[in-house]
Amino acid sequence: MEDAEMPDVMILGIGGGIPEAFLTPSENRRNTQTAIRDWMLGPEKPTNEPGANRQYWAALGKAMRVDEREARRRRCSNCEYYDNSVEKQVQMITIPWNEWDVNAGFRGHCTKLDFVCHDLRSCQVWEEREYEEED
Ligand code: SF4
Repeated sequence: MEDAEMPDVMILGIGGGIPEAFLTPSENRRNTQTAIRDWMLGPEKPTNEPGANRQYWAALGKAMRVDEREARRRRCSNCEYYDNSVEKQVQMITIPWNEWDVNAGFRGHCTKLDFVCHDLRSCQVWEEREYEEED
């Protein structure tokens, strides 16, 4: 068997087509800052550790009109607007790793606020994702 050469890494859409237009790094930066400023995106240093970032989760819970414990359950990862599909992972390669990625979990695209969010964070726009039940 011949040695297969590794292909050059290219950013292609699913199926090898031309990828859809995606946000630019500067748009991502701007939209992230808007999410922090206007929609309480946080916490700044997320973690799964119980009890961590109490001030943030209590404040977010108050804004959401739920208690802190419930606010902690509401993460980007279970938000209606979190798209962490394989196709989005491919598109997000165009956004360089940055300070918001550090220890924040897996990347997803926030389809509501249009930026790269992370599964350990949350924001005031959070909405419960609807899961389809099997018949
Ligand atoms: S709207 Fe949802 S996915 Fe977007 S930043 Fe807020 S919690 Fe995360």
